[in-house]
Amino acid sequence: TFPESEKKYVLSVDQGTTSTRAMVFDHAGDIVASGQREHQQIFPRAGWVEHDPMEILRNTREVIGLALADADVNRHSLAAAGITNQRETTVVWDKNTGTPVYNAIVWQDTRTQRICDELARGGHDARYKERTGLPLATYFAGPKIRWILDHVEGARKRAEAGDLLFGTTDSWLIWHLTGGVHVTDVTNASRTLLMNIDTLDWNEELAAQMGVPLSMLPEIRSSSEIYGYGQRDSLLIDTPISGILGDQQAASFGQACFTPGQGKNTYGTGNFMLMNTGENIVSSDNGLLTTVAYQLGKQKPVYALEGSIAVTGSLVQWLRDSLQLISSAPEVEAKAKRVEDNGGVYIVPAFSGLFAPHWRPDARGVIAGLTRFATQDHICRAALEAVAYQSAEVVEAMTADSSDDLTELKVDGGMVVNETLMQFQADVLGVDVVRPAVIETTALGAAYAAGLAVNFWQSVDEVSANWVEDRRWQPRIDQSERARLLRRWKKAVTRTFNWLD
Ligand code: ADP
Repeated sequence: TFPESEKKYVLSVDQGTTSTRAMVFDHAGDIVASGQREHQQIFPRAGWVEHDPMEILRNTREVIGLALADADVNRHSLAAAGITNQRETTVVWDKNTGTPVYNAIVWQDTRTQRICDELARGGHDARYKERTGLPLATYFAGPKIRWILDHVEGARKRAEAGDLLFGTTDSWLIWHLTGGVHVTDVTNASRTLLMNIDTLDWNEELAAQMGVPLSMLPEIRSSSEIYGYGQRDSLLIDTPISGILGDQQAASFGQACFTPGQGKNTYGTGNFMLMNTGENIVSSDNGLLTTVAYQLGKQKPVYALEGSIAVTGSLVQWLRDSLQLISSAPEVEAKAKRVEDNGGVYIVPAFSGLFAPHWRPDARGVIAGLTRFATQDHICRAALEAVAYQSAEVVEAMTADSSDDLTELKVDGGMVVNETLMQFQADVLGVDVVRPAVIETTALGAAYAAGLAVNFWQSVDEVSANWVEDRRWQPRIDQSERARLLRRWKKAVTRTFNWLD
């Protein structure tokens, strides 16, 4: 069988918002080696966020090299490679030269608000929600493509002539790594506002309305099948590239959320909670997105409800880089621990408006409840609490939409090393918070998708068996205290509304 053969590993590329990682996993789902490179965050104006796609491509090649060197493995030991990516971040490139026509427009970028408002006129937003499962918001890829075609000189003409291609960073990287295979998977396509959520095809009418030529769009494939092989001049020469999942869907897959009702919350730049709804396409009445969780080869797609929160870990980055209250991310915990509570201070980080469950593009951030008593420790504490409160509101929406009560919350992502945050999350939710042994579930999920396609793993049951609990936090406050805290938080949230008029 596979594990006994020389092909002992699966490589996963995690092309994230702040960095690109490559990880090598063994059959038990343990990390054997990794490499990581951060890329530049480009903020040309308030509300705009860009990345350089060429830098991301260079970093990807580098981290693959680093991971293989670290593990002392070569391509002959790799059964497959998978890719997971920051979703919605939009690249448009010339298929003749492989050169981007503009920087990547990142998911957090709000420059497309006017395009969204125009598309929504005449009640069309309901149509988008019905067909794609998504609200018409700046978050998604379609309006970003439209912006590039409208604003880059000559781009629309070249696109209409069939010379330009669109992709999220999965497509961008695979096109380059394979030498021209232009594909994406159902999970990434479900974030464009252009894909029918039920048939998993591009919606021609919506694409026409968005002003996006169909010839630009990648072929939509399942999350687990062989899309192509690494190119001759690459480190992945002849390695099957056989898994693609958007980063949040990858985390859910890596957390083995395979049955309806199972869910996870990932604490990274933003927070993203996904709950598996099986083959049911559940439309939310409470500000959640309907999205594809995964599709394995020719099997039926599995769907999810998602609560997306734009700013969580990036609030900690802001404390570090912009306010310079802390010199490193972990320091936020050291400071927060010096005080017993938030001292009445609440931070609502509506830096790009508010996403789930509010969807308020008009919101901007506030620090509320300040008194002369407040110190930087209270601010740090309030920042961590903001992460937990925002997640608690998403859980409330999930419970209302699904009629199932959450029994425990599986967590992962860069912030879950923060024990103060995890304890507070359990406190405000009133359920256990559970952390698995491998918290790199995003990279792991893409490795699983790739490995399943080549029978390195035989079934999702084998994947589930690899999931191991590491740590559990139980709620320590009672219901009335919980209600009191959440009431205050909700009051602070209302203070962010109607800021832009
Ligand atoms: P992404 O995949 O979105 O790039 P990660 O999962 O790598 O993000 O998580 C990184 C985020 O976690 C950063 O925004 C950082 O500020 C935050 N972070 C890292 N360590 C800590 C910590 N000890 N306490 C709080 N936040 C942290």
